[in-house]
Parts: sequence; C-alpha cells; structure tokens
Amino acid sequence: MSEIITPIQLVTSVYKRLEEWKHLNGVVTSLAPKAIKHAKLISQTPMDNSNLLMGIPFVMKDNIATIDSLTTGSSKILANFTPNYDSTVNKYLTKASAINIAKTALDELGMGGDGLYAATGHVLNPWNPKHITGGSSSGSAALVAAGIVPFALGTDTGDSIRKPAAYCGIIGFKPTYGLISRNGVFPYAPSLDTVGVFTNHVEDVAIVLDNLVHHDSEDFTSVHSTQKDYVKNLNTNIQDKNIAILNYDSYQWTPDIKQAFDDAVNSLVTDGAKIHKINFDEQLLQALLPVYMIISFAEATSCHANLTGINFGERIAGNDYSQVMTNSRTAGFGDMVKRRYIIGAYALSANYQEELFNKAKKVRRLVVEALTQIFKKYDAFIVMPTVTSAPTIKDVLEQKKVISSKHDYLEDLLLLSNLNGGPSITIPLTTVNNLPIGININATPFNDQTVLDIAQFLSNYINFNNKMLGDENE
Ligand code: GLN
Repeated sequence: MSEIITPIQLVTSVYKRLEEWKHLNGVVTSLAPKAIKHAKLISQTPMDNSNLLMGIPFVMKDNIATIDSLTTGSSKILANFTPNYDSTVNKYLTKASAINIAKTALDELGMGGDGLYAATGHVLNPWNPKHITGGSSSGSAALVAAGIVPFALGTDTGDSIRKPAAYCGIIGFKPTYGLISRNGVFPYAPSLDTVGVFTNHVEDVAIVLDNLVHHDSEDFTSVHSTQKDYVKNLNTNIQDKNIAILNYDSYQWTPDIKQAFDDAVNSLVTDGAKIHKINFDEQLLQALLPVYMIISFAEATSCHANLTGINFGERIAGNDYSQVMTNSRTAGFGDMVKRRYIIGAYALSANYQEELFNKAKKVRRLVVEALTQIFKKYDAFIVMPTVTSAPTIKDVLEQKKVISSKHDYLEDLLLLSNLNGGPSITIPLTTVNNLPIGININATPFNDQTVLDIAQFLSNYINFNNKMLGDENE
C-alpha cells in the first residue's frame, strides 16, 4: 500500500527542500504562512480524486500578481508592491486547491534571457551552480529542475519559458496566445506575452492546462477556445503526422547532440510520422531578432510608463513631479531594462516610428504568413532551443562586456511562436557533460494538443527522467 502524506506534511517538506536549495536564489518571496494555512484547510476538506491539483505545491514567477502578497517583477521599482487584486491564474489554481509556495525570481520585468538580472541577484542552475538557468523565468525553472515543486508558472514573450527549460533539463510549455488569461500579469510586450508552465512530465502540463484554459472577460486578449480536456486527449499516436525539421543542416552540431536528435527523429519515423527537412526563409530568419526587439522594447516602453514612483513604484524625492519621475526611474530600473527603454523610445519617436516600429510590425506579418504556409503542409515543426548547454555565469558576464557582431540566428527560432502566437514546448533531449540539452516542438495556433502529443511521444522515447539531476548512473 502506498504511504499517505497530508498536504501539511507535503508543504512542510517542500519548504525544507527549498531551504536546502536556497543557494539557487530562485525565490523572491516565500508564501509560507499562507501556504501552510491553505494546506491545513485542504487537509480538512474531503479528498476529491478527480482534482489532480488538490494539495499540489507550485511556485509562480514574480510578475504574476498574488493578492496581498508582494509582487515585485524582480524590479527595485516595485520592491514594495503588494497588489490588492489577484491574477486570474492564481485564482484558478487556488480554487483547484493547489498550494502556492513562493514567488520566483525573474530577469527584471521579464526582460533578459540569462537569469542574471533580477533585483535579488543571479539565479543558479541546479545542475551546476556555476552555470546560468537562462531566463527570464529563471527561478521557476530552477525550482522545478531541483525537484522542489512539480510545476511552476512562468511567462514567455520571446523564449522565457522554453530556453530556461532547455538549460535546466525540464519541460517548458508556452501555450497559444490568449489561451491562458494574463489578467494580473505585469505586461512586458502585450502583443507577445503568454503565461505558461514548467513541469517534469508532459502529462503535468496537460493537468495544469485543464485548470487554466478558460475565457476571461478581465483580459481582452483572452480567447474562447474549443480545445479542452488536454489530459483525456493526450495521444501518442503520431502515425502519418507530417513534421518539419527547421534548418537541420545549419546547426553547429556536436556529434553527441546530433546523435540524440537523430535518434529522437528516427523514433518518430519508426512510428509512422513523416519527417521533412526544410529551411526557414533566410532573410526572415535574420529579421527575427530585430523585429522582436523593436516590437517588444517599444511595447515595454509604453506599458511601463506608469512606473514613475508617482502612481506606481518606489518613490524617490525630487523638487517637482518630473524630477520625482526621473529620480525614481533612475534608481528603480536595472541597466538591461533601461537600455531596452532607450531603444523602445527611439523606435516609437515621431521621426523613426515608420522606419522602425511600423516596419517591424510589417515584417512580423511576413513571418506569420511564412509560418501559415509551413502549417498548410506540416502539423508541427521541430527546432533546437539551443545546441549548447547552459554557459557559465562568468562567461556570460564576460561576453556582455564586448559588443559582438557574431550572432547565431538559429537561436532565434524560438521567437517564431511568439510572433504568430502558436503553441511551443521544450522537452529535455539529452545531457552533455552533466548539463541538459532540449528539443522544441511547435504547432499552429490552437493546436496545443498536437505539441503535447508529439512531446509525450518523444518524452516516452527519450526517457529523460532516468537521467535526471543527481542521477549518478548517468
Ligand atoms: N530572452 C528574451 C529577451 O531577452 C525573452 C524574454 C521573455 O520571453 N520574457 O527578451
């Protein structure tokens, strides 16, 4: 007979583990008193076997509002911000009796990809603390990878769930734009922002989706979706699926990673999928990063204009309101964010709006059109989220000091699903020198089930859990 554990015992053990992994620096605010109270309440409620989230602990990125608990966006400017409202996702999860354990560190306000730009400091990779977790949903990724919680919420505007998932050896899922409510989530770039989830199993993604996918009248981009029952519909039959591999021949493969990738692809072929190697339009590929930067930085500049220290944010004194704003913003934002606002303001300025912001939106349309053509022929496409494992913190900080003209455009392929709003999932593929490498699957908007199905098939084949963190026999 299996041992019974009460929600309070479970939550207590999670906090103990969190303490053991404190050095990862993944937490901004612990929700301990509330979480324990919640666990007590659940312990007194009759067990509902149909509710798979009942009593399950989770953590949430700190740009997602939790009523009456600090929500800082990992920015100094919001260091004392305690919302008097709850995000829709927190409401749903609380209603499902899942237990929110902590708010996790992010690259300030969602801006960054390394996990090095939170006001609370660097987030460390549980596989090796000398290495980055990736970002911006860094704390959420680290805590799921360390096995502290079975799932965590993050947000993804440019790759912020799917890249840290790759670096941390876990699953990172970005749903179709509008499928999960963003009510109560700090915007970074609202035309791209999505809320998504980290887990260790594809089925767990489906469980969370079953609880979070609802139309929300509080979010005007929330969609009425006919897709539902993600767990029930999870299906590993990939017979006759047409799957494209993007830019296979352009990657700088190392033999081990190529072998792992080829094996995974062959497993799809063996089970009846049809694989097609295709290249994404070269010119559009090179435009992905600039288009993303201009659109997201411009939207952020506009959205964060309310963080002035007057209506919102930490106030630094000054002689008049414009000095208060300048002082507050100067002290409140980190360098990464400031740099982005400068570029964003430039792209929106009267002289350059047509040439930069409007042009970026036009090129985005071309990218969406190119993807629409791809999805006319294929059910899904696969890319590598990265072909290298997480770099060391030291190397990333060194590289930031020099402006490099070298850029690997293939690293930008994760942006495709932000630009067209499609579902995208990273799952672990293999490890190299004891650090994980992922693989990423994408489908057309509203085909979230397709990416989950293919991910489930591949996860069964790859069987990464056998190689998980701390496994000596690897
Ligand atoms: N890495 C990307 C950036 O630096 C993605 C950020 C995100 O998705 N929030 O902006």
